[in-house]
Amino acid sequence: MATPSGSVPFASSCSAMDVPYTTQQYRKRKIKQQQLGVHTRKYTKKSDKIMCKKCVQERTSAIHRQYFGNWYCSTTATTSFEAWKELLMDRGYGRRKDE
Ligand SMILES: [Zn+2]
Repeated sequence: MATPSGSVPFASSCSAMDVPYTTQQYRKRKIKQQQLGVHTRKYTKKSDKIMCKKCVQERTSAIHRQYFGNWYCSTTATTSFEAWKELLMDRGYGRRKDE
């Protein structure tokens, strides 16, 4: 009943020609991932413009003012710059907390 080892030419040749289904799926997935990867990693030119998160436009100094790391956007702001600044001061900005 002993099967002589190393004498299975049929089985080996078969596996070499026939790629298992799982391997096919794996290869397909890998190709797809590579394609997706290429797609997502597509080179995008980084804009020099700084965009405002509030009005989603270029953060120009004409309508934007900075106060202690906070940006005031006059396009979307509901308060005046002075009022906004006071609000930040109330939160502790622009003030040294020595106590
Ligand atoms: Zn803005």
